[in-house]
Amino acid sequence: MQKEVAFLTCHHKETVVAPVLLKQGYIIRVVDNFDTDSLGTFTGEVDRPLTQVQTALKKAQLATELTNCRYGLGSEGSFGPHPQVYLLPWNLEVLALWDRLHEHAIYAIFGSSETNFSSEKINSIDHALSFAQKVGFPSHGLIIGTPQDSFFAKGVQDANTLIDRIHAALKVSASVWLETDMRAHMNPNRMQTIQNTAEKLSALLQSFCPHCKLPGYGLTEMLNGAPCEICSTPTRIPKAEKWNCLHCNFSEVHPLIEVAPAKNCDVCNP
Ligand SMILES: [Zn+2]
Ligand SMILES: [Zn+2]
Repeated sequence: MQKEVAFLTCHHKETVVAPVLLKQGYIIRVVDNFDTDSLGTFTGEVDRPLTQVQTALKKAQLATELTNCRYGLGSEGSFGPHPQVYLLPWNLEVLALWDRLHEHAIYAIFGSSETNFSSEKINSIDHALSFAQKVGFPSHGLIIGTPQDSFFAKGVQDANTLIDRIHAALKVSASVWLETDMRAHMNPNRMQTIQNTAEKLSALLQSFCPHCKLPGYGLTEMLNGAPCEICSTPTRIPKAEKWNCLHCNFSEVHPLIEVAPAKNCDVCNP
């Protein structure tokens, strides 16, 4: 039995998401007559008032409203420093699947350091070209300037255009911001991360809550504090996984290990 899913996207994300979800019997129907940028953009032209997860859900819900489909899918990405390794760039993707009949949301969240996310202030054509080379241009697009600049341009994917526009920009400004364009259709690295997120969603669609039988049952929290094998002091090593159903709130704790190696203990190995 195939289920139709309305997907609110205008950046061709369906090309990587649809084949993965089709294996679970979900057929993607693209909704592109809605400007998702009105919900916020990376380049700061519109403020994003909701959190990333809320925005993905909002898009999924809008998709069902615009189409009358039972299922809606929304995607939202963010970029910034890696949560543990500050200098490493980090791409976090969320896919939210909304079941309007059961008013039930499933979230797939996937983080990756495989991203070219970066920006640099440049003041010459050579400087611009070396930045472009570093970030995988032209297969990855670039943004020139900020929305306030007269020479602002997104989605630059051609060397001649880049040189012409930088040349023009440097005539009116001593320096120019160059930035990676992180929209999915401009960024193969991001497209790959979205595909990985879709695979995670696909796994959740096959995992059913033991209590209410809806899909999306999975890991929601790592419980830290496995006791040291020598002195039993809680360590930072996870002792269990908590699985939770976001619909009926049923949860289970799955133990991982009984004791942690003493090398992870702050008392035995300070
Ligand atoms: Zn449940
Ligand atoms: Zn110890």
